[in-house]
Amino acid sequence: MNSSSIPTRPQSRFFPVMKTPMLPKGAFAGKVALITGGGTGLGKGMALMLSSLGASVAILGRRLNVLETTAKDLSASTGNQVLPFPCDIRDPEAVKGVIDKIEEKFGLPNVIVNNAAGNFVSPSERLSPNAWKTIIDIVLNGSANITLETGKRLIKAKKGASYLSITTTYTFKGSGFVVPSAAAKAGVENMCRSLASEWGRYGIRLNCLAPGPVPTEGAWSRLDPTNSFAEHALDTLPTGRVGEVEEIANLASYMLSDYASWMTGETIVLDGGSLPFAAGEFNQFINIPNEQWDVMEKAIRESNAKQKKK
Ligand code: NAP
Repeated sequence: MNSSSIPTRPQSRFFPVMKTPMLPKGAFAGKVALITGGGTGLGKGMALMLSSLGASVAILGRRLNVLETTAKDLSASTGNQVLPFPCDIRDPEAVKGVIDKIEEKFGLPNVIVNNAAGNFVSPSERLSPNAWKTIIDIVLNGSANITLETGKRLIKAKKGASYLSITTTYTFKGSGFVVPSAAAKAGVENMCRSLASEWGRYGIRLNCLAPGPVPTEGAWSRLDPTNSFAEHALDTLPTGRVGEVEEIANLASYMLSDYASWMTGETIVLDGGSLPFAAGEFNQFINIPNEQWDVMEKAIRESNAKQKKK
């Protein structure tokens, strides 16, 4: 799945996709980045962006072969070190072990991205306790394992850091059919907001980025198995197109960089306008043709005139 296989609406030509890094070269020089789920999709895109801006990058995931291929490709393309660190973030002991290894290789990470997630669509009455637990374990407990383990070490070492958690737009009002994910991601956002207040005194910032629909192989095969959502999603996107990995990676790089050093405890949505569109009660009027507006305007004027006469 990639965005080129999804049609666009005509207005998308006014909203060009800018894929090149918006930050200056070297913006992350000397930084050590840790990205969970960095072998694929958005995580891979953020790994490429941070590496091209000068960071040493550790990518985490469960599949060693996927991590190795990505690490090799990205290092070759940027000339900076990207290394694979296999780890199941659900396991706190495994997380401790992998942070030891990253520290040995690169030093303590100071740019940390909680990006790994699990999710699938299902009516909630079909969910087994194990399905619920798996999603909460990866998304909420996995993000907490990474955040708390690195945070404790950073505080002890008196080193500052910047965290970014990739969440979703349905943390605001929830969503049916992805309820474990909605609950877990809302938990991640509140963890970050809470820690932002608590850990600012240690030089640690935490923010969240909530993307709208961005086609990736992993997430989209479980969320849109028959491709029907992608087509419908276009009708709810005022910008007339889905997002691209590089657009998320550019915003992520800004939020993680010192250019955003006054930003903490925040969630930024990047979604082509789909959240405000879904929220607006009358936005479905977008489908009404001009001729029908003429009829409706006439009806409203007639009704106003009648009321004035009463
Ligand atoms: P993806 O390619 O499936 O990325 C998920 C990554 O998480 C994979 O690399 C996976 O690697 C890793 N992962 C899963 N379980 C793990 C575990 N227990 N331990 C370590 N790593 C684990 O999907 P994506 O679209 O790039 O999603 C990235 C993030 O963006 C997710 O947080 C997702 O919720 C969020 N998001 C995506 C969209 C979108 O439209 N794409 C929209 C909103 C939010 P392994 O399988 O090898 O472990």
